[in-house]
Amino acid sequence: TVRTRFAPSPTGLLHIGNARAALFNFLFARHHGGQFLLRIEDTDRERSTQHAVDVILDGLDWMGLNPDEPPVYQSTRQARHTEVALALLEAGHAYRCYCTADELRQMREQATAEGRPPRYNGMWRDRDPSEAPEGAAYTIRLRAPQDGETVVNDLVQGEIRVANAEMDDMIILRGDGSPTYLHAVVCDDHDMAITHVIRGDDHMTNTFRQSQIYAAMDWDRPAFAHLPLIHGPDGAKLSKRHGAQSVVEFREQGFLPEALNNYLLRLGWGHGDAEVLARDEQIRLFDLDGVGRSASRMDYVKLTHLNGIWLRQADDDRLTADVLARLAGRDGLVLDDVAARRIRMLMPGLKERAKTLVDLADGSAFLARLVPLPFDAKASSLMTPDARALLRGFAGEISLLEPFTAIEIDAALRRFAEQEGRKLGQVAQPLRAAVTGSSMSPGIDITLAALGRDETLARIGEAIG
Ligand code: GLU
Repeated sequence: TVRTRFAPSPTGLLHIGNARAALFNFLFARHHGGQFLLRIEDTDRERSTQHAVDVILDGLDWMGLNPDEPPVYQSTRQARHTEVALALLEAGHAYRCYCTADELRQMREQATAEGRPPRYNGMWRDRDPSEAPEGAAYTIRLRAPQDGETVVNDLVQGEIRVANAEMDDMIILRGDGSPTYLHAVVCDDHDMAITHVIRGDDHMTNTFRQSQIYAAMDWDRPAFAHLPLIHGPDGAKLSKRHGAQSVVEFREQGFLPEALNNYLLRLGWGHGDAEVLARDEQIRLFDLDGVGRSASRMDYVKLTHLNGIWLRQADDDRLTADVLARLAGRDGLVLDDVAARRIRMLMPGLKERAKTLVDLADGSAFLARLVPLPFDAKASSLMTPDARALLRGFAGEISLLEPFTAIEIDAALRRFAEQEGRKLGQVAQPLRAAVTGSSMSPGIDITLAALGRDETLARIGEAIG
């Protein structure tokens, strides 16, 4: 059965490039009825704090990409990494290298002088360890094949070949006994029975190195799929100046996980012209043959557009809870049950106008204010003496309206405008300004119904002075 894994290094943020790799691994496993696993590559003990791990776990949970088994922490597997290195040593596929720091530096300098990439020259490959000074420190290096080639049939990039002569004998166990990254990944992927390694194409060269370890251990190599990276809208490496890059930032900026998932999937994977895809559709349609080979460009405008679509489909209770949480930090609001009820009631109208949850919170804030409301410039300009007189008259109408519902309010407004010989907007606009403090809101009928009669009258009264 198919087993994939997402293997982030806990660096304190979940980059969207990584989030997309997680999504692809998840969808591929689900599509094939397999399992999606998580391995935290926390061998760098300095950088790997619990906080950094939590950022990944929370981010995946938020995106609905929870692994099917408890996460594997790479740092707990050091004994196994050592065991495999010693097995390679025992079998003659690896050897002890007593090279000193000075000798390595010379090799580097010589390579630089000759204008080629630095390479280990194999000086201990065939030497007897007894030639090393007593107690000298050593690393363990893989005895890599020197002829032939390593071939990878990448499921995205196609067949890629590298001459083995181009790869030197890599270190698998360092002088302090710690495994190198390349070695640890192979041991872990093998033990976790990973069948498909789907990751960023910045790992392509690692794949050739790792292939040599699989071959030396006589282990089955998983299939590989290297995903093109995500660039900024201008084609340059995605950076801060382009906009949000991490899952936490997108979340703070008011994107829904459905929208981010949907967007990341469509970025670099295509299936006809389907744009809006829910999770079960994604699982049904996803496969690696739809993944493109060239780098994708992050399009924040398109993401925002998709977010608006997902927002309108989202559950109103959920949106209300999110809005209340976002408003909680703002000044001048009273976030009691009354405000919560109003926001919930108006949510179907509010979400029609918003593209992000931040917009949605901005548009909802007026429902949580006490009179007198702050007025924006446009709203203030609408409160002319004529408008005040009209609103006084309309307040009289609605004080008697039964029941105080959107349908009745709408009918009353039309009646009143007609009776005054005005266009609907001539009454509705100052009315909106009076009850919201702005010139934009959902339909005035549903807005008044959400505020309730008493609050509506209090706001009109305050506005007309
Ligand atoms: N830990 C690596 C990274 O975060 C990924 C390794 C892999 O997927 O093999 O880039």
